[in-house]
Amino acid sequence: LIQLSVPLNFIGFVYREIRQGLTDIEQMFDLLEVEAEVVDKPDAKPLAIQQGSIAFKDVHFAYDPERQILKGVSFEVPAGKTVAIVGPSGAGKSTISRLLYRFYDVQQGSVTIDGQDVRDITQKSLRAAIGMVPQDTVLFNDSIAYNIRYGRLGATDDEMMAAADIAQIGHFIRNLPDGFGTMVGERGLKLSGGEKQRVAIARTILKAPPILILDEATSALDTTTEQEIQAALDVVSKNRTTLVIAHRLSTVINADEIIVLRHGEIAERGTHAGLLAQNGLYASMWNRQREATQAEEHLRQVRESD
Ligand code: ATP
Repeated sequence: LIQLSVPLNFIGFVYREIRQGLTDIEQMFDLLEVEAEVVDKPDAKPLAIQQGSIAFKDVHFAYDPERQILKGVSFEVPAGKTVAIVGPSGAGKSTISRLLYRFYDVQQGSVTIDGQDVRDITQKSLRAAIGMVPQDTVLFNDSIAYNIRYGRLGATDDEMMAAADIAQIGHFIRNLPDGFGTMVGERGLKLSGGEKQRVAIARTILKAPPILILDEATSALDTTTEQEIQAALDVVSKNRTTLVIAHRLSTVINADEIIVLRHGEIAERGTHAGLLAQNGLYASMWNRQREATQAEEHLRQVRESD
């Protein structure tokens, strides 16, 4: 009986884990060992991280051969700097983050970290070096404390709470009936998009990776929430090599370089001020977005005064 119940328990465990794992792409890849697109080379070595500089060199990529998504993209993120990728929907922005995380391999060109091609290193070491704050964080059905601690399971309570404070979510959590013990996820307390994103930021602060990918939410957040999240992101990306996939432009103003992607090619690049002065695609995106934000704010004020 004991012999039988162990595997059954294990299957139950695996089943639950898989269900939860589907909510978190990193864990999904760990547990199911999905070998969909990429495998470690037999002689793959762990990434020897120095400062964590990133280089894309003449990267070509297509999900299916008929449709090229990236057509010769080259850029660098020097160690400790922030580069933002902006551009119209479908331009290939998120694809760049997936190639850095090596969910897929490039068809031509290379992606390197500190001079090491991501195809030559172990995926485990690659993903340990990168913190990803995704567009939409789906939380585990567990306490909010566990959801934050997932960034580094060995973290103490103090470290976990400090991370929550830095991510500007600590105050909110302490005011919940069960504080950090509050159950969240599908069966627990539902958090808003902005709250979930701050939990993801707290998790990343605990993980303290040398490289960060911020894939910003597409969904509109109100201005206050956006400012709080921006403040949290500024803290976490300080002195870390950071790649921001930006769907809104308000978050990229301070980036060291902004890359404007269009149809899989770099159309413009520069700083916020430099790009505005060029009066090209970035400038027109910026003006359009500013008008949209102003209209939204106006609508909100009208609604609130009703
Ligand atoms: P958005 O701002 O709307 O999120 P994006 O610039 O981040 O867009 P990507 O997500 O990189 O765009 O997608 C680029 C193109 O690749 C899109 O046309 C998309 O339909 C396609 N694409 C994305 N993922 C896949 C996939 N897994 N299989 C096939 N095509 C894909």
